[in-house]
Amino acid sequence: MHFPANPRLTVDLAALASNWTRLQLLAGGAAVGAAIKADGYGLGAAEVAGALARAGCRDFFVATWAEAASLGALPQGAGLAVLHGVQPGEMRIARALPARPVLCTPAQVAAWRNAGGGACDVMVDTGINRLGLSPAEAVSGLLDGLDLDTLHSHLACADEPANPLNEAQRAAFAALAARVPARRYALANSAGVALGAGYGFDLVRPGIALYGGRPAPGLDMAQVAFLEARIVQLRNLEPGDSIGYGATFTAPAPLRVAVLGIGYADGVPRALSGVGAALAGNARCPMLGRVSMDLIAVDVSAAGRLAEGDWLGIDFDLPRVAALANLAQYELLTGLGHRYSRVYL
Ligand SMILES: *Cc1c(COP(=O)(O)O)cnc(C)c1O
Repeated sequence: MHFPANPRLTVDLAALASNWTRLQLLAGGAAVGAAIKADGYGLGAAEVAGALARAGCRDFFVATWAEAASLGALPQGAGLAVLHGVQPGEMRIARALPARPVLCTPAQVAAWRNAGGGACDVMVDTGINRLGLSPAEAVSGLLDGLDLDTLHSHLACADEPANPLNEAQRAAFAALAARVPARRYALANSAGVALGAGYGFDLVRPGIALYGGRPAPGLDMAQVAFLEARIVQLRNLEPGDSIGYGATFTAPAPLRVAVLGIGYADGVPRALSGVGAALAGNARCPMLGRVSMDLIAVDVSAAGRLAEGDWLGIDFDLPRVAALANLAQYELLTGLGHRYSRVYL
């Protein structure tokens, strides 16, 4: 059923595909995959994967087997890898699904061998100290005879181009690539792609840049996720009137206010209270007072004629809004709620 007054999330799949093509130009000949974990960064993993596959993407990454299972069939020739590898109790599902585990501990490698082996990926830690074999484990013979599709590592500070850990990780990974036989080698996330061709190896694993995030200073991607909400009520504030919980905003002058049917339950962060904005055509309509669970008041004094029931955009430009709310761009996307009517363009 379609509920017209729900807030609307529009996902521009053409913008997503254009971001993927842009990353291809930056990746120095490496294949460009896509991280579609966390339900495609909140935008719908199946829809995102379908659009990227139509653009030519052939390598997809999720975090868990539950995510792999709910994805449905990928197009012919596309591969899926599960970044958390195979944890205890997961071998049956891992053997049943057409996805490769990214094995990341010696126990996972041993369990995969015991279960019969087959194509797999391996993660090696070169300095983030999150998931992965140590370089010493990777060259110890532990991986001998494995059907190793892709050897991965992951950068800790790719969004800080001047951080010396980037080059240290790149050099450590290049040294491993010379010693561990695999069909492909992959190091870079979105920000890593922007570090230069030396970080591309055979395959890159961008996520946030595909979805419109700015992965590195100066590298602006096309916005993919757009939020809209309806005006539930229009009201006039007189000087001295306050608005919202805590009465944190008091009108200094007469104001025309629209109360929108969207709030922090939909993933518009409470931290945007007083600093975020709605968009009425070209007019920026500042948020007034606190963002509440289901409602946000905005100043529409500068907007043209508006009526109750009209739709306004919510500024969701990821780099700008993340800075305003003091949140990661990733959190904005993965925090989107479940109340939206979703539209895929
Ligand atoms: C999430 C993830 C990515 C994608 O990172 P972005 O910063 O979104 O580009 C790449 N590789 C691994 C291992 C990840 O966990």
